[in-house]
Amino acid sequence: MNHSNRRVFVLQTLACTTALMAVGAARAQAALVNEKDAQALSLGYVADSSKADAKKYPKHVASQMCGNCQIYAGKPADTAGPCAIFPGKSVSSKGWCSAYVKKAA
Ligand code: SF4
Repeated sequence: MNHSNRRVFVLQTLACTTALMAVGAARAQAALVNEKDAQALSLGYVADSSKADAKKYPKHVASQMCGNCQIYAGKPADTAGPCAIFPGKSVSSKGWCSAYVKKAA
């Protein structure tokens, strides 16, 4: 490999590595669910559990949050994480929706 070819190889490797890192970062930080999205509205999703509609969801209690929901797939320390109800998006760990299921102890 001559000097020029080596330089091209190094640049291509750097470009590929950068592209893969960008894809990984995008996967790790999926966009947060927008409360105004149709599905979010239909499930009463709010990013802050204390803002849940008490009239519409009288069984909701403030201690119910995505972070302690069985369906939440984020880690305990995460501020947001995946939820199977909203594929490809993240929900706030302090959020809530009417599909809430208390996490088994
Ligand atoms: S199903 Fe659970 S984790 Fe998903 S949005 Fe509703 S309360 Fe949050």
